[in-house]
Amino acid sequence: PVVTRFAPSPTGYLHIGGARTALFNWLYARHHGGRMLLRIEDTDRERSTQGAIDAIIEGMRWLGLDWDGEVIFQYARAERHREVAESLLASGNAYRCYATAEELAEMRERARAEGRPSRYDGRWRDRDPAEAPAGAPYVIRLRAPTEGETVVEDAVQGRVTWANRDLDDLVLLRSDGTPTYMLAVVVDDHDMGVTQIIRGDDHLTNAARQTQIYRALGWEVPAMAHIPLIHGADGAKLSKRHGALGVDAYRDLGYLPSALRNYLVRLGWSHGDQEVFSTDEMVSAFDLKAIGRSPARFDFAKLENLNGLYIRGAADADLVAGIEAMLPTIGAARGLSAPLPELLRETFIAAMPGLKERAKTLIELLDSAYYLYAARPLALDEKAKGLLGEEARARLAEVLPVLEALPEWNAAATEAAVRHFAESSGVKLGQVAQPLRAALTGRTTSPPLFDVLAVLGRNESLARLRDQAA
Ligand code: GLU
Repeated sequence: PVVTRFAPSPTGYLHIGGARTALFNWLYARHHGGRMLLRIEDTDRERSTQGAIDAIIEGMRWLGLDWDGEVIFQYARAERHREVAESLLASGNAYRCYATAEELAEMRERARAEGRPSRYDGRWRDRDPAEAPAGAPYVIRLRAPTEGETVVEDAVQGRVTWANRDLDDLVLLRSDGTPTYMLAVVVDDHDMGVTQIIRGDDHLTNAARQTQIYRALGWEVPAMAHIPLIHGADGAKLSKRHGALGVDAYRDLGYLPSALRNYLVRLGWSHGDQEVFSTDEMVSAFDLKAIGRSPARFDFAKLENLNGLYIRGAADADLVAGIEAMLPTIGAARGLSAPLPELLRETFIAAMPGLKERAKTLIELLDSAYYLYAARPLALDEKAKGLLGEEARARLAEVLPVLEALPEWNAAATEAAVRHFAESSGVKLGQVAQPLRAALTGRTTSPPLFDVLAVLGRNESLARLRDQAA
């Protein structure tokens, strides 16, 4: 059975590259009817934080990426990692290294002076530990092969080989008895039955080193797929400016999880020229062979367009729920808090069909709904202020009694009345409609005017018009 894992180090937020790695692992597991594990690699005690763990788990939940079983914490397995290191020591595949910090610094210094990558020179590889000063601290190193090659057969990168003479004897266990990342990953992937590793190609060299550990333990190496990292639109490594934000930042910018997931699946993976995928379509089409070898480029405009598409396709009540979920962060500036009053929520839902056609994000959607929750008298934006000059206000005063006299209040009735008024006063429809729009919404653009009148209802509409009429 297929088992994948997402194995983030909890040292920061769940960034966009990590989210894509999680998505690919999730899709691969779901496609094959297998399992995906979530393993928090918290062995680095200094840099791991609870805040980062929470952000990762929340980010996964928000994106709709579920995992199988409990969340696994790597640090809790340190005893098992130590045990494996000891077994390698016992089998002669590892050794104690007593090289001091000064000696290691010297090796690095010499490498720098000679302009070559630094490597441990193997000085304790064949030395008798009895020669070490009594009680001296030591690390446990892998006795790595010095001849031949280490080969990684990678589903994305192809066959990649390293000359063993270029790979030094890596540390498995630090002098304080804690396992290194390299050892912990191998032991965990093995113990958890991981069959397929999918991660960023910044781990490719680690794959060679991990392969050496697998061989020393006589364990089967899982299949590997190292996916190219995400670059900015200009081809440079992804930075904050390019969109290297946490998943939570995308949520706060008003992106829908479905849109972000759809965007992420196309970052490095393709299926013909299809751009829009339902979750089921993604799951059934996903396969490692279609992951490209060159870095995907992050493109905000494309993400925005997809988000607009998903907003248009979303159920009205879901969009309002999405907006409500954002109110704790963005509501205060707009005088709104969650939950919305029942009546306002219903008004929002009723207005969504007109509003969602235009919005690219939930924030834009909320702001386009300003007229629904604005308190009277409305704060007009600059354009609306400019539009509502003397003449326009006078026209509002003329059309007011016509609307007040309407026996029925709906879009068709107000439209017929306003059209009739324009014709009989010899002005263009726009000369009446624009002042009405500005007075009702405080803006010069809005959903169709007569829908606005209908959604606001008779009392609120007339009150707003009276506020601005001269
Ligand atoms: N914990 C590693 C990281 O966050 C990933 C390890 C792996 O996927 O093998 O970069």
